[in-house]
Amino acid sequence: MSSVNDCIFCKIIAGELPSEKVYEDNDHIAFKDIMPKAPVHYLVVPKAHSPRLDEMAKDNGTEALGHMLNAVVKTAAANGLSDYRVAVNVGPKAGQVVFHTHVHILSGWSGMARDVR
Ligand code: AMP
Ligand code: ZN
Repeated sequence: MSSVNDCIFCKIIAGELPSEKVYEDNDHIAFKDIMPKAPVHYLVVPKAHSPRLDEMAKDNGTEALGHMLNAVVKTAAANGLSDYRVAVNVGPKAGQVVFHTHVHILSGWSGMARDVR
C-alpha cells in the first residue's frame, strides 16, 4: 500500500486521524466530508495513494478506476442512498484541495438536485 507523508487521507486510512466511516472494503474507505456541501456528503477514497484521477491509472493500474466507481455504488447502497451526485475534482483550478484521489457522493436534498449548486 503506497502512502505519502503529510497526506491527510493517507493518515485517515492509517487511523492516525479520525473520520466518520460509512463504508470500507479491502481497497477503499468512505467517510463523511468534514465540511459537507449537501445534506449527505461522503468521500470515497482508494487506500492506495495517487494524487489525482488522471494519475491514478499510472500509479495503481487502469482497473483501479473501475474498482473505485464500484466502491462508490456500494457506499451509496450501504447507506440507503437512491439518488445521488458523483463528482471528482481534478486539479486545483477545478477545486481539488486534497491531492489523494477521491470521489464525492452528494445526496439528501428534499427537492430536485439540479436546482442545487
Ligand atoms: P476536493 O476539493 O475535491 O479536494 O475535496 C476535498 C474534500 O475533503 C473537501 O470537501 C473537504 O471538506 C474534505 N476534507 C478535508 N479534510 C477532511 C477530513 N479530515 N475529514 C473529512 N473530510 C475532509
Ligand atoms: Zn494519500
